Amino acid sequence: MANVVWHKQLRILLDLTRDDLDHPELPDLWDTVYKTDRFYGRLGVPVSERDLQCGGVCRDMGVEAPMHLRMRGGRRETVHERREDKERHSVPMSDEHKAYQERILRAAHEGGFGGDSEVRTRVGRTWIQTDTLVEGADGRRIGWEVQLSTIDESGLRGVRARAGKAAKNGITPAWHTDRAAYAQRNDTHWTRSDRLPAELIARNGDLRIVSGFRILDFWHCDTSAVYPCPYGIRRCGKAHATAKPREVFFDDMVRQTAAGSIVPIQFRAGSKVHRYWVTSADRDRLDDLNSDDTRLPPERDTAPASGASRNRPTCQPAVALLAPPPQPSPPALPALPVQPLAPAVETTPAAAEQYAYRSEQVADGATGLPAELIALQRAADDAHHRLQLLHDHHERELQRRVWRETAEAAQAAVTHYARTKRLNRHEVEARVRRIVRNPTG
Ligand SMILES: [Zn+2]
Ligand SMILES: [Zn+2]
Repeated sequence: MANVVWHKQLRILLDLTRDDLDHPELPDLWDTVYKTDRFYGRLGVPVSERDLQCGGVCRDMGVEAPMHLRMRGGRRETVHERREDKERHSVPMSDEHKAYQERILRAAHEGGFGGDSEVRTRVGRTWIQTDTLVEGADGRRIGWEVQLSTIDESGLRGVRARAGKAAKNGITPAWHTDRAAYAQRNDTHWTRSDRLPAELIARNGDLRIVSGFRILDFWHCDTSAVYPCPYGIRRCGKAHATAKPREVFFDDMVRQTAAGSIVPIQFRAGSKVHRYWVTSADRDRLDDLNSDDTRLPPERDTAPASGASRNRPTCQPAVALLAPPPQPSPPALPALPVQPLAPAVETTPAAAEQYAYRSEQVADGATGLPAELIALQRAADDAHHRLQLLHDHHERELQRRVWRETAEAAQAAVTHYARTKRLNRHEVEARVRRIVRNPTG
């Protein structure tokens, strides 16, 4: 027997342990649902074609398990239609699973974070059930889901939907397994440990995450580089990032995800979406690498790299690529000016002067564009390039600011020019970039 039912038509979960089914906003809900179910029964409508499904373990595992309702001795009851669904409920949580739950809570507690197991978070008219929820810094919530080899693999469905729903509702999904086949799935950010007995999981000793966490190696594509250029060009002269698997202690993972110093990233490479965990410092640096004047990285507070960055989304919607393409393709949407109203000349006298010598190289006559636009774009590109060469956190902060300012100046100048000349801003920008970044072509 289960006591949570999913109503397919109403799209709500019904909690049979409560008189109002946990829906005070819908009076007489039980009477309505029960009478409807009985009515279908009298008409001979099969249970699988009615409105109700198991909203407990079955739904958590992504299984649609039809149910019907009955009254027994004045008690409301729900009944699984299929035996195999019912049996799913009698499989007790394994000792290993319990050991993981305890370990997560203990590790979190030692790091100064609270948490609880089997947490229901109300979301509109339904809720999210989380295996173990850690309450992290700055309102960060990490939803640990432990899926061990003791469960039937066919039961593990709907991971992406569940993880996505959690993420959308402010819970960073953290799925952990001891099964290699799960860890290779890319439906969420999986971490994996070796298969261990409950006694070892519960103990304080080393418990390692052997896959799912990576460090990013930032390198420069020149003759001294050890990695091949991801674009197959012999040496493109740009900065790239290479992700390398690295083991971490499970307890550290629990605490650092709560603190925000380990974060999930995802990016598309070809047709595949890659998902793994990295340090927030690496994530920030990757943001810098993938950013462009029109898509500046988010403003960051000046907290040290190891500290939590506030109010950041827990999931990057799409870090386009680990490295920028050699020829930046025009953005799908018209580029938004960063400072649409700021007159270029006044905002960046310094930058304009500093790079004035360059303007002589590209005369107005040759390009049809003011040399100043070219100079400002060059200054921005140079600043971005220099940022990729820096490793020290403080130096990067300073250089990022320089880049921001020069990029904003370049953008503002393009906006101003396009507006004054009544030209398409996006086309002006594309031409400026072509001249600066591809002078021979
Ligand atoms: Zn069920
Ligand atoms: Zn390269």
